[in-house]
Amino acid sequence: MGKSTGFMEYERQSIPERDPATRTKDWEDYTLPMSDEEAQKQGARCMDCGVPTCHSGMEVKGMTTGCPVYHLIPEWNDLVYRGQWKEALKKEHEMNNFPEFTGFACPAPCEGACVLGINEPPVAIRSVERSIIEKGFAEGWVVPEPPEKRTGRSVAVVGSGPAGLAAAAQLNKAGHWVTVFERSDRVGGLLTYGIPEMKLPYEIVERRVNILKEEGIRFQTNTEVGRDYPVSRLNEEYDSVILCGGATTPRNLEVDGRGLKGIHYAMDFLYANTKSLLDSNHEDKNYISAKDKNVIVIGGGDTGTDCISTSVRHECKTLTQFDIYDKKGSERDNEVNPWPQYPIIHTVGYGQKEAEAKFGDDPRAYAVMTKKFVGDENNRIKEVHTIDVALSFDDEGNKVRTEIPGTEKVWPADLVLLAIGFSGPEQDLIEKLGIETTVRTNVAAQYGKYTTNVEGVFAAGDMRRGQSLIVWAINEGREVARECDRFMMGSTQLP
Ligand SMILES: Cc1cc2nc3c(=O)[nH]c(=O)nc-3n(C[C@H](O)[C@H](O)[C@H](O)COP(=O)(O)OP(=O)(O)OC[C@H]3O[C@@H](n4cnc5c(N)ncnc54)[C@H](O)[C@@H]3O)c2cc1C
Ligand code: SF4
Repeated sequence: MGKSTGFMEYERQSIPERDPATRTKDWEDYTLPMSDEEAQKQGARCMDCGVPTCHSGMEVKGMTTGCPVYHLIPEWNDLVYRGQWKEALKKEHEMNNFPEFTGFACPAPCEGACVLGINEPPVAIRSVERSIIEKGFAEGWVVPEPPEKRTGRSVAVVGSGPAGLAAAAQLNKAGHWVTVFERSDRVGGLLTYGIPEMKLPYEIVERRVNILKEEGIRFQTNTEVGRDYPVSRLNEEYDSVILCGGATTPRNLEVDGRGLKGIHYAMDFLYANTKSLLDSNHEDKNYISAKDKNVIVIGGGDTGTDCISTSVRHECKTLTQFDIYDKKGSERDNEVNPWPQYPIIHTVGYGQKEAEAKFGDDPRAYAVMTKKFVGDENNRIKEVHTIDVALSFDDEGNKVRTEIPGTEKVWPADLVLLAIGFSGPEQDLIEKLGIETTVRTNVAAQYGKYTTNVEGVFAAGDMRRGQSLIVWAINEGREVARECDRFMMGSTQLP
């Protein structure tokens, strides 16, 4: 696929970025569109590798490798290279209802599994994916396609994140009436209120939601099922129910001083920031401000990076991000992390680039463990006390962290953001519905089947698998729709 000599002729080029030194003055998308010509070259680098590994998603050692929605990557690379954009768009939509969400924010496990990536920079798959869908919207090719017939069956989807939206889109295609319940005021789940504006602008989510509305899907926002809408009504009013409520119970850091003012969960910081930005361009002041503060972000993952980019835009005074892990190497260790696994290598995210442009340094401190928080006379955070740790493994392969004496440090802090992951879904609705859970408190429902212990109630996305990726949520949303359709109709045509 692509041009047979393309990978030798063209260098890898990803979606271009705006200058990190100036883009932090606004909340606009931090990237720039790729030209059609460049996207065609990138498509041309796909090298007809015989058995492509990029498009078959699976989990290896707890990490995703390949594309979880089985995108027809070599096919659309080839079509883009040949300038057949509309056909490429059709191929994208065959496997993914929302290629723009993944095109903007997928970490691209497909690229880690690209055959060219064994000894050359992999094909810039996500950049081509995004170029196709953006061209589709620009050309007016993405239009509502309501079903021709209705079945008379109805489905309630709880939660409007990517899993709920994908389930709704598929079930609507099959002719069922779908209502999506969302407790927030805006649709999109973490696409809207988790991932910040500059990484995935709300207008991208809204653009798609408007199409879904025109296709016949009903959205009931500001409605928390189990509180504003009693669970008994679900049974009375719908033929089946799909739970896609996400997994946003934050993991806590239980050390001395945790109760001090100025220590917040990352999601509280990010949610309020986006809501205030979208509601009033921050004029309502209903957000946690990092302005002129010494900010410490605890957690080295993507949520931490989103807190970094947001704090820079607030014009914080200083910025540090603690990572409990050592700094990774610049190339994958083929012994423990061979291709096609997701490469565990040092990367510099958009937020770190911005922090470096503002403060001169990457904000990360590695192998640092927080020991305690210390406050001032008003019970406000003043200092974070840490110690460096060394990582090793015991005989059972469990991680062991040993404190290194003499590495104690005190960091001035006015705002601390906890971005150390999520422990699972909220339990209230699950308990009210009498749904069984796993030891990790996720809804117990087998991957591929999605049925819970309550007949007619299905679960998908993060609520079933734990905090994960947009692309897995879309995969599960599509698949749960298939199973739900089969349950209501006795058979299904959905993929
Ligand atoms: C800060 C952050 C950044 C991330 N960045 C990325 C990224 O860049 N790329 C990526 O691939 N993944 C990213 N992720 C992960 C990704 O966003 C999630 O895996 C994905 O959104 C899960 O989709 P979901 O539909 O299962 O749940 P969610 O997106 O969490 O949506 C669940 C929705 O259900 C609603 N809800 C819950 N209970 C009820 C109820 N009782 N009644 C009504 N509504 C309810 C919630 O309000 C929410 O809107 C990020 C996660 C976070 C936290
Ligand atoms: S959805 Fe993600 S994994 Fe799949 S092709 Fe796009 S970037 Fe790659």
